[in-house]
Amino acid sequence: MTVQQVEDGAAVEGADSEEIARKLGIPAQLLTSSVLTQIVDDPLYLHHLELCRNDPAMLGLLLGPEAGRTAPPEIRTTELLSRAGVAIGRWAASGFGRVPEDAYRARMTACQGCEHLAVPPKSRLYRLTGSAQQKSVCGLCGCDVRRKAWLPTEHCPDGRWSAEG
Ligand code: SF4
Repeated sequence: MTVQQVEDGAAVEGADSEEIARKLGIPAQLLTSSVLTQIVDDPLYLHHLELCRNDPAMLGLLLGPEAGRTAPPEIRTTELLSRAGVAIGRWAASGFGRVPEDAYRARMTACQGCEHLAVPPKSRLYRLTGSAQQKSVCGLCGCDVRRKAWLPTEHCPDGRWSAEG
């Protein structure tokens, strides 16, 4: 199987995929085209992978068959690999970092006063992350703001707080 012919749900093969799996700290056989799509589309997904790399239950959820269900089949896996490499580079360039505590609190204050903050949908992922009962998800971007607000590369989709750097 070539990289271009990889089917959704099957492991992506090739030197680039091995390098990306190594950087993520996940087994290469779990790096599918669906996972690559998630990495490219959602910076928080990448952050969640980092947070969960030592938690087999969460990692299984993030890398399992539910990951990237909306993967557009017309995007070639080589293109996804290239974009995933860029996304990982951006994440690394941020120092895998977090914003300072005071910046985090300021962001959270803005979110807590925002009419878009909502109780999350009843998905298994939100239950496992402890978000199911309280207003913690941005209704505009779908992110758990308690995690998103830590990331220096993230911004509010309504312009209420900005990315740093
Ligand atoms: S990220 Fe922005 S739009 Fe979303 S809940 Fe926070 S302040 Fe509101």
